[in-house]
Amino acid sequence: MIRILANDGIDPDAQMLLEEAGYEVDTQKVAQDNLLKVLPQYDVIIVRSATKVRRELIDACPNLKVIARGGVGLDNIDVEYAQSKGIEVMNTPAASSQSVAELAFAHMFTLARFLHQANRAMPVKGGTAFKDLKNAYSSGLQLRGKTLGIIGFGRIGQEVARIGLALGMNVLPVDLVVEEASIDIHLYHTEDISLSVKLKSADWEEALTKSDFITMHVPFTGGQPLIGEAEIARMKQGVFLINTARGGAIDEEALLKGLESGKVAGAGLDVFDFEPTPRPELLQHDRVSLSPHIGAATNEAQANIGLELADKILAFFGDDQ
Ligand code: NAD
Repeated sequence: MIRILANDGIDPDAQMLLEEAGYEVDTQKVAQDNLLKVLPQYDVIIVRSATKVRRELIDACPNLKVIARGGVGLDNIDVEYAQSKGIEVMNTPAASSQSVAELAFAHMFTLARFLHQANRAMPVKGGTAFKDLKNAYSSGLQLRGKTLGIIGFGRIGQEVARIGLALGMNVLPVDLVVEEASIDIHLYHTEDISLSVKLKSADWEEALTKSDFITMHVPFTGGQPLIGEAEIARMKQGVFLINTARGGAIDEEALLKGLESGKVAGAGLDVFDFEPTPRPELLQHDRVSLSPHIGAATNEAQANIGLELADKILAFFGDDQ
């Protein structure tokens, strides 16, 4: 029997699918330090971003056949080392794109209408300050007609472009590889009316200098941040920056300076340099809208992730249980 340890949880439907196929699925979380003892009894480990599967753990598990990552980034797994040992490494790159894209817009709408500030101030200041707060938050912006720079025009970047186009934004995607993509907009109430737009990638300089909102959707595994002081200096006065990609894609020191000088009007951050203890100056900044790395954390994305992984695991082992 194939034994699976789903150490960072698994969607119940996906668990059922695997169990119905005769696999054993354990969902009790094993602490990182205990995995060396426990994981050798399993054929498959399913993780999200919390559990690390490093060389030492891989060496301790000669029977491990599959490392399955629910989500996109594989930075918590020594992928090449695992593959050199004949272990299959799988992930679910597309399952959460829509959820991440929607979170990027949640931050944009929040910043545009001061919701992050209103949510902090109203419970504290109460009814007495209602009028003052109304005045303070009365210079909001509409997204329609604004220019949206999308850094990284891959799966998530294209979902962001779709929402941006549907909102009436001027969308300027930038990518190292993707030169053009077909963006399909389907209307909910009819299958007959849908719109397909061929959107060409823009020039980096154009996106940097013309955008009102700039949102990051590139992989980042260390090294130079894509957005640092020099890049922020070339942006429009009052730009909004959104990062739902990875901490480090935007230089946080440069971002703080930009916020202080007013060059950056606001930032929406789901990812941080020092997770799980981000810089207090960012957490406490009144022009930063925050979320604790929840880009893929919707019920729909989790279900998609679980089912996609279950399908891949079933396909890998075939009937050989
Ligand atoms: P993807 O691979 O489909 O797209 C990334 C794109 O970025 C590619 O087209 C690539 O060519 C481009 N790119 C790489 N380096 C670039 C650079 N320097 N300049 C311009 N373009 C560059 O990946 P995706 O599925 O769209 O995911 C993007 C990132 O989102 C992931 O790598 C991950 O870090 C992040 N992510 C975050 C969450 C979250 O919970 N916040 C969830 C899922 C993914």
